[in-house]
Amino acid sequence: MNATPGFRLRHFASDNNSGICPEVWTALEEANRGHISGYGDDPWTARACDLIRELFETDCEVFFVFNGTAANSLALSAACRPYHAVMCHELSHIGRDECGAPEFFSGGAKLWALPGEHARLSPERVDAAVRSHFKLHSSKPAALSLTQATECGTVYRPAEIAALSEVARRHGLKVHMDGARFANAVASTNASPRQLTWDSGVDLLSLGLTKNGGLCAEAIVVFDLALAQELDYRIKQGGQLASKMRFQAASWIGLLGDGAWLRHARHANAMAARLAAALEPMPATRLLHPREANGVFIDLPPQAIESMHARGWHFYVFEAATGCRLMCSWDTTPGDIDSFAADLAPSLGSNLNC
Ligand SMILES: *Cc1c(COP(=O)(O)O)cnc(C)c1O
Repeated sequence: MNATPGFRLRHFASDNNSGICPEVWTALEEANRGHISGYGDDPWTARACDLIRELFETDCEVFFVFNGTAANSLALSAACRPYHAVMCHELSHIGRDECGAPEFFSGGAKLWALPGEHARLSPERVDAAVRSHFKLHSSKPAALSLTQATECGTVYRPAEIAALSEVARRHGLKVHMDGARFANAVASTNASPRQLTWDSGVDLLSLGLTKNGGLCAEAIVVFDLALAQELDYRIKQGGQLASKMRFQAASWIGLLGDGAWLRHARHANAMAARLAAALEPMPATRLLHPREANGVFIDLPPQAIESMHARGWHFYVFEAATGCRLMCSWDTTPGDIDSFAADLAPSLGSNLNC
């Protein structure tokens, strides 16, 4: 497999570049025996939904979809009319990486992008923005969307979510959470899934386990049951209803059944911690955001970026010209970190000698 020069089995471009974890692979094989009814009317799907309800310790409604964009935009479409606005961070995936799908599926709701340090929103900022809404002439704020863990690898703690939800509640906004990396946030905060969601005022959650070893493992988890009304129709119309749903369910069963979701997330976070610890003391590097989940955001000199890319390390320059994003996943190994650091050190050293 190493025939291509510079070929690497694993790199740091995204946690979704990883494969399917063994637990899910096994569950897929088990689901692949004989004929079973389609469209979710099967024992695998029922079991997966029950596992999610157990995880959140409540009787939530669960809908499976193929990807995070669909989870976010269909969840928001349930909370918004076409003349509504969604308050979100300016770096949010819904605003920057979903090709207008939230606006499209809500029939016109506007995303209202707000600044905030390390991709986190503050209650004061949300409150001020909602208050600045110019009655009738601007879209009416109807939802607040938080990303957990954030696009910059930071996390919200339960008290911070509760404070944001309190502002939302006061202004009549529903609270949505983009949990594409929710597992990493649970691992980082040691708070329970319940504390990080409905106990802190979250009404609906896009829950993703794809980046954590699943296959098309994305779900809309609805805590405010009124928002689940006719959501199944939106999902079908949106082209997101799987006929062989048991294979979607298999990811959840494989990951939630024996706690693999948390094990993998803890591992990915630990690898990111190891990576940050290795790179931060090197000359000419600077951590851009606190390392709280499975990503390391670090400023590197342009020559070092070029040299690492030339050595076959994939990663994105995420912020400005030199702010690099290094994502760790469930299968990142300590050896990956060590060889990345070993490759980086000389390119920084030669930079110093110029
Ligand atoms: C990966 C990701 C998603 C999901 O994206 P899809 O490509 O649509 O599956 C959603 N939100 C965030 C913050 C993500 O990082």
